[in-house]
Amino acid sequence: MITGRLILGDQLHPGHSWYQRVDPSVRYFLIEAHDEQTYAPQHRQKMLGFLAAMRRFAAWLESKGHAVTYVPIGAGVRDLASYVAKAQKDGRVHQWEMQEPDEYRLDAALRPLMAQVVSSEHFMTERHHVAAFFAGKKTYLMESFYRDQRKKTGILMDGEQPHGGSWNYDAENRKPWPAKQPIPSAWTFSHDLRALDAELDEVGLPKWGRSAAEAFPWPLDRTEALEVWNFFIEHLLPSFGPYQDALVDDAPFLYHARISFALNTKMLTPLELLESVESAYRAERVSLSSAEGFIRQVMGWREYVRGIYWAQMPEYATLNALAHRQAMPDWFYTGKTKMRCVSQAIHQSLQHSYAHHIQRLMVTGNIALLLGLDPDSVDAWYLGIYLDAIEWVEMPNTRGMSQFADGGILGSKPYVSSGAYIHKMSNHCRGCAYSVQDKDGPNSCPFNALYWEFHHRHRERLAQNPRIGMVYRTWDRFTPERQHALLERAAWLHEHVEEL
Ligand code: FAD
Ligand code: SF4
Repeated sequence: MITGRLILGDQLHPGHSWYQRVDPSVRYFLIEAHDEQTYAPQHRQKMLGFLAAMRRFAAWLESKGHAVTYVPIGAGVRDLASYVAKAQKDGRVHQWEMQEPDEYRLDAALRPLMAQVVSSEHFMTERHHVAAFFAGKKTYLMESFYRDQRKKTGILMDGEQPHGGSWNYDAENRKPWPAKQPIPSAWTFSHDLRALDAELDEVGLPKWGRSAAEAFPWPLDRTEALEVWNFFIEHLLPSFGPYQDALVDDAPFLYHARISFALNTKMLTPLELLESVESAYRAERVSLSSAEGFIRQVMGWREYVRGIYWAQMPEYATLNALAHRQAMPDWFYTGKTKMRCVSQAIHQSLQHSYAHHIQRLMVTGNIALLLGLDPDSVDAWYLGIYLDAIEWVEMPNTRGMSQFADGGILGSKPYVSSGAYIHKMSNHCRGCAYSVQDKDGPNSCPFNALYWEFHHRHRERLAQNPRIGMVYRTWDRFTPERQHALLERAAWLHEHVEEL
């Protein structure tokens, strides 16, 4: 009588209680199902990263004496649910168990086939905690959730009060990029994944983005993830807070941790990262503002978006509050656009399967929202291109935070800006084919006219929002000629979206 325990590609958590003892009646199954590679147009580095890390994890389990069945991509398994059902029908597995899947679609497909579903022992809050925390409220305010988490964990707290007297040090963070500032090279690896890449070719999986198979740079197990993490704490965290929102030509990683893939596949736990950041602060190795800035991202935003996902799915995946329907231009897939900021963000995403938060939000997300792209296509793009993209974290960030398609459940206003914001935070504009100073001329920065036209177009919905009132007061002070020129330029941009 064999109990089959299914391990998903984002459940590579060596500290899970399942693995603390070897049980002869248990066999672990890791399955490289075809559908898991094709449910969105996936970057080749994302496919390689997940599969190579799964293979490592299986080898680690075997080295600890556990029985493992590993099904490689070439075996032709289409989907996980059919495999699970068939193995039970054939009598190879008497009953199935799994850890809570983090994606709605897998939870719906697999849970009915399981005798038992246990916690993944990764997150700091239970799946439905956010829904319960905000029960009866119309909007979910991240700040109140975050403060509650700080109190519960005691991290950066002095009794009931936030350490240092403030919950938030944004005023000291988020500085524009200074002209000269050294950026350490990222901590990378050189894994040879050419054989795996060839296996993916053999089964006909599409290639999008640079595979980097000859020297794959991302961590594939916990030991390597800890190397990336320790490098961040030592060399990057001190400048993380101040330059969290900076955008810099040819600097894809800046002071960001590059830890999201390792964290989302559960090689690392959020709590251990937070404790490590607090220790670095207490040892006076980093400022309070940098430490709090990082802790807010992981303890606050990450847990909060997961809670929103589970509170709102499956309806969340269909929301399109602004009724945006524009097809995604090809340059999202090729990077071939004259807008330097956008081209830099997309090219580096194709190159590294990575962009940092402010590129995702204020460059690619911003232009997608201003152009009115269909949120389904925007979701699919983000889900496919980034190595760290798993729907529970990708979708609330994309459909909610970035595209306002949820009508304000997650963010209180749309994250849009004109070129002025990008100019302030980056050094992209000086090398751009467009002029950021020009507001409505034929060579004007597209973000400028589109910003005003976006607000004009959505006036009925947005004008009542007290956080946006100022924008409308400014627009109303423009002369009719100026308004007309901005709307004309925006109309041209919408009509020629492929040429931007
Ligand atoms: P750092 O900037 O060093 O931040 C440290 C950690 O904080 C991250 O690793 C991440 O775990 C956490 N974090 C920071 N911001 C967020 C956030 N808004 N939501 C959740 N966690 C956060 N993150 C993903 O992990 N997967 C995604 O698919 C994803 N899609 C996104 C789509 C859009 C449109 C936007 C605006 C953001 C998205 N994010 C996503 C959040 C964030 O951009 C990435 O977590 C971050 O860029 C990963 O790089 P890093 O590890 O260097 O992060
Ligand atoms: Fe981006 Fe506009 Fe600056 Fe060009 S001018 S880099 S499009 S913000």
